[in-house]
Amino acid sequence: MVEAVKETKPFQAEVKQLLQLMIHALYSNKEIFLRELISNASDASDKLRFAALDNQQLWEGQSELNIRVEFDKEKQTISIIDQGIGMTREEVVENLGTIAKSGTAQFLQSLTGDQKQDANMIGQFGVGFYSAFVVADRVEVFTRKAGQPSSQGVHWESAAEGTFNIEACDLAQRGTRVVMHLRDEDKDFADGWRLRSIIRKYSDHIAFPVVMDKDAAYAEMDDEEDLDTAVDNTSEADQDAKQTKKDKKAKDADAKPEVEVVNKATALWTLPRNDISDEDYQSFYKHISHDFEDALSWSHNKVEGSQEYTSLLYIPKRAPFDMYNREKPRGLKLYVQRVFIMDDAEQFLPLYLRFIKGVLDAKDLPLNVSRELLQNNKQVETIKTALVKRILDMLSKLAKNEPEKYQAFWKEFGAALKEGPAEDYSNREKIAGLLRFASTQSADQYNVSLDDYVARMKPQQKHIYYVSAEGYQAAKNSPHLEVFKKKGIEVLLLGERIDEWMTGYLTEYQGKHMQNIAKGDLDLGELEDEADKKAKEALQESSKDVIERLKKVLSEKVSDVKITTRLTDSPCCLVLGAYDMGAQMRQIMQAAGQSLPTSKPTLEINPQHPLIEKLTQEIQDDRFENLAMILFDQAVLSEGSQLSDPSSYVTRINNLLLELTQ
Ligand code: ADP
Ligand code: MG
Repeated sequence: MVEAVKETKPFQAEVKQLLQLMIHALYSNKEIFLRELISNASDASDKLRFAALDNQQLWEGQSELNIRVEFDKEKQTISIIDQGIGMTREEVVENLGTIAKSGTAQFLQSLTGDQKQDANMIGQFGVGFYSAFVVADRVEVFTRKAGQPSSQGVHWESAAEGTFNIEACDLAQRGTRVVMHLRDEDKDFADGWRLRSIIRKYSDHIAFPVVMDKDAAYAEMDDEEDLDTAVDNTSEADQDAKQTKKDKKAKDADAKPEVEVVNKATALWTLPRNDISDEDYQSFYKHISHDFEDALSWSHNKVEGSQEYTSLLYIPKRAPFDMYNREKPRGLKLYVQRVFIMDDAEQFLPLYLRFIKGVLDAKDLPLNVSRELLQNNKQVETIKTALVKRILDMLSKLAKNEPEKYQAFWKEFGAALKEGPAEDYSNREKIAGLLRFASTQSADQYNVSLDDYVARMKPQQKHIYYVSAEGYQAAKNSPHLEVFKKKGIEVLLLGERIDEWMTGYLTEYQGKHMQNIAKGDLDLGELEDEADKKAKEALQESSKDVIERLKKVLSEKVSDVKITTRLTDSPCCLVLGAYDMGAQMRQIMQAAGQSLPTSKPTLEINPQHPLIEKLTQEIQDDRFENLAMILFDQAVLSEGSQLSDPSSYVTRINNLLLELTQ
């Protein structure tokens, strides 16, 4: 039995915090409250239609599903009314008192305090129901779950001051009515003209009709002159508005229905592409994504044949703050023959494309399809494969035709795309073509594609060379680059955590091997000339002694000591075995709790460097050891890695400094 008594309950702490933030952060974007509430009404109507597939009773003999917007200028109220699924008392408490979204706490922490920036973030987060409080100081909800007796109505009310009230009430009508009591400074929203224009702006293409009573204010305006008075001090926009009102009035003159449908009320994706303006696409994007900003690009396709479906896929402009939260809901809005089935159908997109938003309307899936059924389903796999191709093509086109936009995309989502070669092996070549890197020959960071690189390769060059380090700066200044710089060979600079993981899967591009220049013997092949080889052999001979001594002193730390072919300016560097795990990968694995066998690098020395010459001449063993240890530690540092024993390093350096100053 549900309690009839009035209860006062506290909001979850996160809701309190979010409410406060929203009221202050959304001041310049207040009108989106209407989009959010209409979106909820539309979701609720979708849910009813879906639930009624199994249980006709839920229609309660009334199958009209529209969303009604009412306002009262005197009372300063706006109401949004739907005949959707409604909520039980427990659902009201749960849905309108807590935030179920994962990562809410993380989200709240990530806010900067800068209102403009935070408003954007809140947009990404999806402000939802609570945005009502941006314009209202008191909100009431009347709701009754479909299929329940009218005595099971619920009345919820809150002034956003930390608590809400809830009590039972009688509601003949199923569904939900949200009543907003507007703040004085926002009372102008209770205006037929303003509401209509906001509805058309954000909710034109939701699939249900949004209806309003014919606005008394403009129905009364039959005197033309009324419209034209005070022309001189009205803005151009106002005049436009008046003109539109006049046009509308002329159109509606003979038909006199009590209510009018304000929006287009057609599911956007079902229309032919030519009938849809960019504006329509953008407003639909905002409806499904709750984003404040426009989408960067989209692709709308109707596919016929063995699998019939329509997809409308969007690339957002900005990455969500929690793109790396793997628990975060992702995926497409799934419809079957225009009937909404579920949000976040993640089975149609691979993880590395998790940032894509959109709608999939599949004709041949059963209406009672569940998440379980979507898994390991052949039809789903076929559609997924096609959608991935579609998205990769959309990105290729963007890269080719609008490189600046692509650059913006890459900055936001590049890191996700880099997961592609590992996750989607069959598309790795295509994905590789979309990757962007920094390189030794590009002033612009992260602007070089593998195609650019290949086009610039030297005639004798066989491999694609890259160096991967902890951060862009470390990669850029890596000693391993020296010989490449001398010979003018381009090297890609990989400085992100994910890079080493990715290159484990992306071993070649266009048949060219991807070669990490800090791993294994450096084989420059034909890029190395005879003179280089001769010089190296001579040095090998003259450096025998110092190599032996270094091996002894550093035996704990290195597996071998060799003469370098890589260095021209630095005294030494560390080289990993061809199949050894790099420093970044090691850190990732260790952070994940894996214990790893230690593999020792090779120390390569440059005998022509004055420090190595000094070392060669040093006869005192303790001084030799000190210098050797310092050189080794510096080689570690110059890779951007961390010393295992920094304080010993500092002590050694300080001793040297003291010697110098004595
Ligand atoms: P979201 O829509 O992203 O889930 P909201 O804050 O907009 O987040 O809404 C929270 C929840 O409240 C919804 O998921 C839904 O369960 C419930 N809800 C909100 N409005 C309605 C409504 N008009 N009818 C039924 N349920 C609703
Ligand atoms: Mg919502």
